[in-house]
Amino acid sequence: MRQSLVSGQKPFAVVLACVDSRVPPELVFDQGLGDLMTVRSAGTVLDEAVLGSVAYGALELGIPLIMVLGHESCGAVSAAVRAEQTGDQLPAHIQYLADQIRPAIDHVQHGDARIDSTITRNVGMVRKRLAAERDLADRVAAGKLAIVGARYELHSQRVHAIT
Ligand SMILES: [Zn+2]
Repeated sequence: MRQSLVSGQKPFAVVLACVDSRVPPELVFDQGLGDLMTVRSAGTVLDEAVLGSVAYGALELGIPLIMVLGHESCGAVSAAVRAEQTGDQLPAHIQYLADQIRPAIDHVQHGDARIDSTITRNVGMVRKRLAAERDLADRVAAGKLAIVGARYELHSQRVHAIT
């Protein structure tokens, strides 16, 4: 298997996942070497490096599926929700993460429900931003790419789609 991958890779999906140690996409989906191109950032936050990495998979390698994978009990989303409530500045570059997640915060819900709802909304927001990237949108329109959102539940170890 390893030898067959020396000459090249043809992964079937790009998975943009959180950095959380409990949610490695290869293990969540029981995939092996060469199957998934994984891009990971806390809270699946987009920046130029993340966008470039996702674009590399979809445009240069021609991977036909991008999945944004959020998860239950996401610390990055929790921190963003709490930072907005307290007004505290988070240390170092962590504030950048909170700033990116903030537009997804669900102000209808409160407490843990707000965090949980924001996790789902954040997946939707990131998925929409990717779908709005012109080069990616062109491939979607041509039927060559799908961009989907999903959530992994720590309690059940199940992944379900987010529309
Ligand atoms: Zn997380």
